[in-house]
Amino acid sequence: MRQKSVYETRVYSILITGTMVFSFIYLLLISLNARKYFLSFHEKYNIDEVFFALFITGGLGLLYFLLQANKMSKEIDHYVEEEKNLLWISNHDPITKLPNQKMLDSFVSSMDEENGAHSYAVFSVEINRFRHINDLLGYDSRNDIMKLVAQRLTYLFADNVYKLRGDDFLILRSNNDRTELLYLARRILKNITAPIGINGFILNTAANIGVARCHENVSSLSKVIQQSDCALHEAKKLGRDQVKVFCPVMQEDLLKRARFELDFKAALKNKALSLHYQPLVDLQSNTIVGFEALARWEQAPGKFIPPLQFVALAEETGAITELTEQLLRQACLDALQWPSYTLLSFNISPLQLSDKSLYFRIMRILNELSFPFDRLEIEVTESALFQDAMAARFTLTKLSDEGIQIALDDFGTGYSNLSQLCNFPFDKLKIDKSFIDTFLHNDKQDKIVRSLISLAGALDMKVTAEGIEHVNQLNRLKGLGCHIGQGYLLGKPAPQRDLQKI
Ligand code: C2E
Ligand code: CA
Ligand code: CA
Repeated sequence: MRQKSVYETRVYSILITGTMVFSFIYLLLISLNARKYFLSFHEKYNIDEVFFALFITGGLGLLYFLLQANKMSKEIDHYVEEEKNLLWISNHDPITKLPNQKMLDSFVSSMDEENGAHSYAVFSVEINRFRHINDLLGYDSRNDIMKLVAQRLTYLFADNVYKLRGDDFLILRSNNDRTELLYLARRILKNITAPIGINGFILNTAANIGVARCHENVSSLSKVIQQSDCALHEAKKLGRDQVKVFCPVMQEDLLKRARFELDFKAALKNKALSLHYQPLVDLQSNTIVGFEALARWEQAPGKFIPPLQFVALAEETGAITELTEQLLRQACLDALQWPSYTLLSFNISPLQLSDKSLYFRIMRILNELSFPFDRLEIEVTESALFQDAMAARFTLTKLSDEGIQIALDDFGTGYSNLSQLCNFPFDKLKIDKSFIDTFLHNDKQDKIVRSLISLAGALDMKVTAEGIEHVNQLNRLKGLGCHIGQGYLLGKPAPQRDLQKI
């Protein structure tokens, strides 16, 4: 049953008290005995007129309270409706209108309390290929597709379909044997990946599904959800449109990942992540003009975890903001020890560029440390621009207005969308290592590198060539007029204490 709000309880008590008081006066005064008693004083004190006045007051008061009661009951209905709306909003995804993570969490904890998990199987579904859709049709179309996928799922199952964070859905079905569940998962996949017609385009979305079910060793629904997530993780490793049913071997991976996550959180808390710096060399004057900060995590003595791994983990676990702030602060403190003309180049993860508070966070750190804005360069990849183009444009434009330089990293690996060069305030283009690896032996790639250098020049941008490992690559790039070089040949990433040796 619905609980009464404090407001309702207060209003009801005022109404009841008021009604009781006036009813009491009214009833008291109409009681014959009182009337007779008062009448006996009639001539002497005109008490019957007083009695009459009180009688009318009691009656009118009662009427007034009844009218107020009616009005207030309407107001209460209105508030109750609003309360219900707010509750609905907090428990549902605004785009698909499906129950959200909060609703799932409360259902799961009630199931776990009642030991009712055994009757469930869980399907964790992740929709992908959204990057292409954003690219092609813009962000609104992504929402339309999400709605359509939600409709397809609710067409298959009337209830127990949840929309979770990002592109994830979760479905709870009754527990069944492995073959049945696999069959059901394939049906789900077939339904949600059927071609979608939108704005005159026919799109093929892709999805992956992880399935897990309760059995004698697993008694909690939260555990089964963890396992279906784990199966989804395995399915994603295999590529697009894959289904995986959880099996205990995956448990080991799950444990490893949980341990990895814990270790990472501890490293972050203890500020145990460090930075190495790789020189950026002006190819015409052969002088170091800056350093790129590259994050390092020494998980155990001599055991380094590649930055792409823990940056991805930080993104997944919501620790990316803390990681970036910690690293940027450290990088600025280190860079303040370098010659004042030396640039600090700092990588920003794609997910972070969608965060509109990024600009303010960066500026707060620079101001706190009195770090000159024009000595900082932010490196972003193309994929970062597509995740939320509006937020990316906001952040990059604001940073650029402050005099911070912006570099487009890994150019040549992603979409290599030339229009992005005009849409964002880039000062620099970094040609990816994969290009530099092959351009000497591939005439077409050589032409592309040459064209990129002249295009960047025309757009008033500098070009950095990444991953230079051989002298002949260096000489060719110098010959083509490439401005800046980076690579093991010119200097490997090294800790701050070793920079003077470079
Ligand atoms: P990136 O930004 O493209 O950085 C260049 C990567 O290439 C670095 O790898 C660097 O060590 C490596 N490299 C440089 N020159 C050469 C070369 O001549 N040969 C070879 N084989 N490799 C070379 P690293 O340090 O492993 O970083 C990998 C990626 O991790 C970076 O790619 C960047 O995307 C990301 N990353 C690194 N540090 C951070 C960070 O602090 N924040 C974020 N968000 N991402 C970071
Ligand atoms: Ca970079
Ligand atoms: Ca790069």
